[in-house]
Amino acid sequence: MATAMDPESYTTTKFTLNNGTTIPGVGFGTYRIRCGDVIMKVVDEALAAGYRMFDTAAVYHNEGHLKKAFQTLLPKYGLEREEIFITTKLSPSDHGSLEVVRKAYKHSLDNLGLDYVDLYLIHFPGTAKLACDDKRNIDIRNMTWASLVDLYDNGLVNAIGVSNFTVKHLQQLLRSNHGVIPAVNQVEWHPFYHQQELLDYCKENDILLQAYCSLGGTSANNDSLLKHPLVTKIANKLEVTNAQVLLRWALQQDIAVIPKSTDPRHIKDNIALNFTIPNEDMRILSDLGSHKIKYAWDPSVVV
Ligand code: NDP
Repeated sequence: MATAMDPESYTTTKFTLNNGTTIPGVGFGTYRIRCGDVIMKVVDEALAAGYRMFDTAAVYHNEGHLKKAFQTLLPKYGLEREEIFITTKLSPSDHGSLEVVRKAYKHSLDNLGLDYVDLYLIHFPGTAKLACDDKRNIDIRNMTWASLVDLYDNGLVNAIGVSNFTVKHLQQLLRSNHGVIPAVNQVEWHPFYHQQELLDYCKENDILLQAYCSLGGTSANNDSLLKHPLVTKIANKLEVTNAQVLLRWALQQDIAVIPKSTDPRHIKDNIALNFTIPNEDMRILSDLGSHKIKYAWDPSVVV
């Protein structure tokens, strides 16, 4: 059996969701990793490094590769299915009735080779093929959430949540009173793009924020964040890497992270976050937000 990294060297931070289940503070993002061989290699590296949470989505088109990786690698590390946390997301083209959502969820489960996922998210507040300002988005979003609640109430999924929801979208959802509050809101969150109002709203309503694009995303122009001189200065002072500073900055705000990497060194570094950023440096990093550089799609335009 393969051995994992010494737990002392990586963070074992976990967050408790509003339904009592726990989620690792650091997970592994898989956006744009589509090749089966690469998925096998990075999941192997990730499990060895201590990751126990994996983030995918129907639209990433890699659920099938993850199935093979889990089937091969969980036995290699002596891990049971229950010891890893898997998130997938409902595509914007599958919003709506229970029938449509059930079918999409079953499709993801079949692709992943699983009986359940730990967390199922509405990927985006807007519905495919509807204009962002089309008011039907609101009703369809509510119906979609009701469908997820049905999956949850019937014990088909361990937790449900949303992604890319703004305060307005969350308020609309909570007002419609479906009896279940999203456990997680997965959003773009890094020193160039973060909103205190959203964090406060989520904390008040016991919704865990999970950050994506913590390192500037997978786009080619992500270096402005990773190589920012102030990030470098803090990293040098703390004797860690720039990426570790960016990830730890989120964790210290009680925000979970899901960095993506195909580089074995980066995969190890991104979970080795057992250090503390002093308050004054946390403030310096948060103040970089005045630039408001956004790397991913913008949900604020969706009604
Ligand atoms: P990240 O912010 O995680 O950045 C990934 C990029 O950073 C890659 O180019 C990677 O290159 C590089 N990188 C990773 N670690 C390091 C390191 N230690 N040092 C230097 N460079 C590093 O981007 P993502 O957009 O992938 O976001 C993370 C995850 O969030 C996604 O994979 C996906 O699971 C999720 N996501 C969710 C979205 C949503 O709408 N809900 C939208 C976007 C992402 P390399 O491979 O060479 O290490």
